Amino acid sequence: MVLQSGKARRAERRGGSNPLVGGTNPAYAAELTLPHHRLADEPVPADTALQLVRDELMLDGNARLNLATFVTTWMEPQARELMAECADKNMIDKDEYPQTAELERRCVNILAELWHAPDPEAIIGCSTTGSSEACMLAGMALKRRWSKLGRAGKPNLVMGTNVQVCWEKFCEYWEVEPRLVPMEGDRFHLSAEQAVARCDENTIGVVAILGSTFDGSYEPVAEIAAALDELAERTGLDIPVHVDGASGAMIAPFLDPDLEWDFRLPRVASINTSGHKYGLVYPGVGWVIWRDKAALPSELVFNVNYLGGDMPTFALNFSRPGAEVAAQYYTFVRLGRDGFRAVQQASRDVATDLADRIGRLGPFQLLTRGDQLPVFAFTTKPDVTSFDVFDVSRRLRERGWLVPAYTFPDNRTDLAVLRVVCRNGFTHDLADLLIEDLTRLLPELERQPGPSHDPETSTAFHH
Ligand SMILES: *Cc1c(COP(=O)(O)O)cnc(C)c1O
Repeated sequence: MVLQSGKARRAERRGGSNPLVGGTNPAYAAELTLPHHRLADEPVPADTALQLVRDELMLDGNARLNLATFVTTWMEPQARELMAECADKNMIDKDEYPQTAELERRCVNILAELWHAPDPEAIIGCSTTGSSEACMLAGMALKRRWSKLGRAGKPNLVMGTNVQVCWEKFCEYWEVEPRLVPMEGDRFHLSAEQAVARCDENTIGVVAILGSTFDGSYEPVAEIAAALDELAERTGLDIPVHVDGASGAMIAPFLDPDLEWDFRLPRVASINTSGHKYGLVYPGVGWVIWRDKAALPSELVFNVNYLGGDMPTFALNFSRPGAEVAAQYYTFVRLGRDGFRAVQQASRDVATDLADRIGRLGPFQLLTRGDQLPVFAFTTKPDVTSFDVFDVSRRLRERGWLVPAYTFPDNRTDLAVLRVVCRNGFTHDLADLLIEDLTRLLPELERQPGPSHDPETSTAFHH
């Protein structure tokens, strides 16, 4: 056992270091110290290790009260069971686990159909560890497609300043100039006009987000595509669109079937989603699909041996667990179209209802209403001077709620908001409790002489 000398002395004073004395729990009686910087010399029993690591993790938040994250925090016990059974399967080993590979293929087909791929035979797609990897792959395909045009100059990518950080990473890692369209007034995401204005012969693509993480709003994908069609007609510049549907690509097919944002628009070359957001699977699984082989230059695709044949793969990672893919297929089997529609509609109902009630509390002003992604952002009204959104976030935290407050990017750094993400498992009952807590703490906040929190020092996790 690994005893620190001080603790060893204390143990000695108590009459020895036998962890089993008096029937006390060995994990605590032994006063084990967990390794922080170097491996301990000796092993500990499995039960002891489990208890000690579990105890550390008590300090993590309660996922169900976390209204900050988009990532799935609840799955059915049957899904957990399936995931545990598949924990040892390696996604890359298509030969050893051909049926996991088959489930991945079925998931790709199902998504391609949901996203209206005109020719299901032509699509090419794969699972990833999440949307970030999916976006890297989609961005690489855009860049390679552009570089084959043989243009001189540095490639650029046009997108709203509200993109998720993965796009800034993509540009940095792959040496692409990010052309970020700033927010302006009440426009919090990309517009067609602003996107086209920044395109030139070195633009590898335009990223449209179906569901902005800042406020849950859908970007006008069809308008952006139409404006790029018009640009192509006028100038010959044929610039593809990638839709970052991390959240919305699993919402819109079920709740907004008439909204054209996907492969119905010929200009949309590729789409990604996070299986672990509204795909309802625990982290980490994402998906990316290209319309056809022309959208994904073939030299990016590597072939792995699969049952003696060749299987195309395109990924940044090599080995990764098969459990998430099995779980994604489980959600498809389990819910079907009607089930998905019901689950997503429930989240949207909770979001719109909660947004509405928060709007009626008095001091708050809604930026969005939860009727696109089941996500909404709100701020304080201009006449509220005694507190700010950071105070609200901090006080809700005291009750266990995680509702992030953050400042908007250029040109709206004057605007700070709170954001609520409603997910499967966040019920009307929990929403009632949140409203009760908010209602209870408002009088106290209103008695403050002014905001007690320095927004400069605040940090917020939004993704
Ligand atoms: C969450 C998110 C990402 C990153 O997705 P991960 O699955 O967490 O890697 C990218 N883009 C958007 C719009 C997102 O919401």
